[in-house]
Amino acid sequence: MNVLIAEDDAPSRLMLHSMLTKWGYAVTAAGDGDEAWRILGEPGSEMLVILDWMMPGIEGPEIVRRLRAMAEGKRHYIIIMTSSCIEDAAALALDAGADDFINKPFDSNELRARVAVGRRVILLHQNLMDKLHKLEAATETISRLAGTDELTGLHNRRSFNENFTLAASAARRNGYPLSLISIDLDHFKKVNDTLGHDVGDLVLTEFSALIAGMMRAEDLAVRWGGEEFIILLSHSNENAAATLAERIRSAFERTPTSATPLPMTASFGVAQLRVGEKQDDLVKRTDLALYRAKHEGRNRIVLSGS
Ligand code: GH3
Ligand code: MG
Ligand code: MG
Ligand code: MG
Repeated sequence: MNVLIAEDDAPSRLMLHSMLTKWGYAVTAAGDGDEAWRILGEPGSEMLVILDWMMPGIEGPEIVRRLRAMAEGKRHYIIIMTSSCIEDAAALALDAGADDFINKPFDSNELRARVAVGRRVILLHQNLMDKLHKLEAATETISRLAGTDELTGLHNRRSFNENFTLAASAARRNGYPLSLISIDLDHFKKVNDTLGHDVGDLVLTEFSALIAGMMRAEDLAVRWGGEEFIILLSHSNENAAATLAERIRSAFERTPTSATPLPMTASFGVAQLRVGEKQDDLVKRTDLALYRAKHEGRNRIVLSGS
């Protein structure tokens, strides 16, 4: 572990240096407060700090106060060397933000023990920070997975609900259009029945990749359930949404998937959010348009109309 010592008295500084080195620490020494402050300002500087109280330049307690005022400086373990000729020195050192103090002249055994406490606290803190970072990463993964459809990697309904609310209020605020495309694969049951469920899964995965590859980054592709999908287009009116739907429809019809020799198509319903319209009502209108597409012969796009 690295230790910084700041001590203006050269013989004391040398003695501290050799004792700490003997105890296994990597020592950096500063001869005055300004030098100590400069070293502490370097990135990755020593976490364990032993400061003399009285030094030329910035004095020990002031270094502590400045360090504690910085986010980085809260992690240091600081021992101040106090002198018995200063009244209330220990309380003043601790009040300034030091973790510990040692009276001069000090007993080397006591110093060794106090520095060891500092080392333990720093290692404990580092260990905790490590665990905290891992926990933060895990929490992020969990929340991402909670909004992801396991099979296709698209967003799920839960994520749609969250994103719709945000997108709809942004659209209202800024006055731009928002549309939905509802998609249902045609006669999908036949794929499962003739080629098996695994092939069905592969079709769903490949179709998902197809739509994800065709939309813009700000749009949201959702697996609504089974072989049904929704695309949320946060900056598109009904016609722009229909244009995207048509591009997806024709691409899928041309090259359905690598998984099946069966011809495959999909049907689409498109609707644009109306002023004051609720999410459920918009979804219902998009679904109605989709049912009409099914009714009218599938493999087509039907617009709900404004
Ligand atoms: P339509 O053109 O009217 O939509 O006909 P369809 O066969 O696509 O519709 P239907 O609702 O009758 O069948 C949907 C099928 O989707 C039935 C179900 O077994 C299948 N399915 C739902 N979820 C999954 C899944 O995760 N994997 C697979 N392989 N099949 C699924
Ligand atoms: Mg001094
Ligand atoms: Mg269906
Ligand atoms: Mg279907």
